[in-house]
Amino acid sequence: MSLSERDQHVIWHPFTQQKNMLPPVPITKASGSILFAENGSRYIDAISSWWVTLHGHAHPYIAEKIYRQALELEQVIFAGFTHEPAVRLAERLLPLLPGDFTRIFYSDNGSTSTEVALKMSIQYWWNREEKKRRKIIAFTNAYHGDTFGAMSVSDRSVFTLAFHDHLFEVVFIDVPTADNIASLKGIIQQHQSETAAFIYEPLVQGAGGMKMYDAQWMDELLTTVKNAGIICIADEVMTGFGRTGKLFASEYLSQKPDIICLSKGLTGGTMALGVTACTNRIYEAYVNDDKYKTFFHGHSFTANPLACTAALASLDLLEKEGCFERINAITRLNSAFAGKLQDRANTKDVRTLGTLLAFEITKGKDEYLNNISSSITKMAMDNGVYLRPLGNTVYIMPPYCITGEELEKVYEVLGSVVETDW
Ligand SMILES: *Cc1c(COP(=O)(O)O)cnc(C)c1O
Repeated sequence: MSLSERDQHVIWHPFTQQKNMLPPVPITKASGSILFAENGSRYIDAISSWWVTLHGHAHPYIAEKIYRQALELEQVIFAGFTHEPAVRLAERLLPLLPGDFTRIFYSDNGSTSTEVALKMSIQYWWNREEKKRRKIIAFTNAYHGDTFGAMSVSDRSVFTLAFHDHLFEVVFIDVPTADNIASLKGIIQQHQSETAAFIYEPLVQGAGGMKMYDAQWMDELLTTVKNAGIICIADEVMTGFGRTGKLFASEYLSQKPDIICLSKGLTGGTMALGVTACTNRIYEAYVNDDKYKTFFHGHSFTANPLACTAALASLDLLEKEGCFERINAITRLNSAFAGKLQDRANTKDVRTLGTLLAFEITKGKDEYLNNISSSITKMAMDNGVYLRPLGNTVYIMPPYCITGEELEKVYEVLGSVVETDW
C-alpha cells in the first residue's frame, strides 16, 4: 500500500470533508521554500505551510538547536519548575513586543493563546470585583481559533454552525472605516461599563479572507476602547514576526494592546508554541493573598523547552542581517506585481501588506465551499506552486527565504490563475 492509501485508512484530516477527498500528497522532505513529494514532484510553499514557516523548512540552524536541547532537557512540568529556554525567550520577547508588556504566559498553539487571553481578561475584572464587566467585543469576519472560546469570538460561519448554541454571546462590530467609525464608537460607549475586552487581528483578518483595513481608523477605534477601560487583545498569531513588513502589525498603530497573542511563526514554524503576553496592569490583578484570584490555567506542554529553544533560534535568524532586507524585498516585489494585477477583468481588491498579497477572483461563486479553491490549488500544484485559496480569495504568504526566482514562478502561476476562466 502507498503512504497515501495507508493514510486514508487511519487518518482524519483538518478542515477536510473525508468523503471523496483527493488522496493527500505524501511529502518526504522539505528545504527552504520547497516541499518534496514522494513521487518526485516539488512545490514552492507559497503559504508557508498554513502561515507558520518563516526562514524555510528544515532550517539547519534551528534543527541543530532543537537537537542539542533535546539531549539536555526535552520537557519538564512548568508549575514549580523553570528552565533557561523559557526565561530567556521571555526576556528577549518582552522588549520586542509592541506595548508595555511585562509577563509571558506560555501555551502551545494559536487557539490556546487566544483562549488564555480571553480568560485572563474576564478574570481580571472578576478579581477586581467589577463583575459587571463580562462582555467581549470582536470584529465580524474575525478568526481567533477553533476551541470554544476562540470560536465564540470568531465570526459565525459555516465553520462554527454546529456549535452556535454552545458559543458565548459576543458584541460583533465591523472593522473601522471612515464611514462607520462614528457609529462604532457609539457601540463601544453603549457597552463600555459591561465590557471586559476587545479582541482583534490588527490590520489583516487572516482566515476571514486576508481582509485588510486601515490603521488610521483602527487607531481612532482603539482610542475609544482604551478610554473606556476595556482590555485590548491583539491576536498577532498570523501577523506576528514580520509578515506585514514590521515585526508586529501593531507597530503600524499608535494605540498599543494590553494583551498580545502569538504562535504560528513564533518558532519559525518548527514547533508548537503559544504566547500570551500581558501588561503589568493585568498581571497585578492576579497577585494576591486570596488563592481564588489565581489564574488556574495551564497545559501539559506549557513552555516546552524544545519549542522555546526553536523560538529563540528563530529570533536569532530574524535579527540577523539580511532577514528584514528579504522581507522588504518581498514587500517591494509584491507591490510591483499587485500593480500589474490591478486592471485584470476577473480580479477584485488586489491588496498587499508586507509579504502578504491577496485578491479575489470575481468569476466563480462568492463562497468558501465552492470548488474554485481546490481547482486553483490543483492548477498551481500542476505548475509546481502550492496555494490554498480561502474560497475565491487567492493569497500568498511566502517564507522569507524564498528566492527571487521562486517568487517570479509564484507570480507566474498567479498570472495564469487570473487568466483562467473559472
Ligand atoms: C491560525 C490562527 C489562530 C489559531 O491558531 P492555531 O495554532 O491554528 O490554533 C488564531 N488566530 C489567528 C489570527 C490565526 O491566524
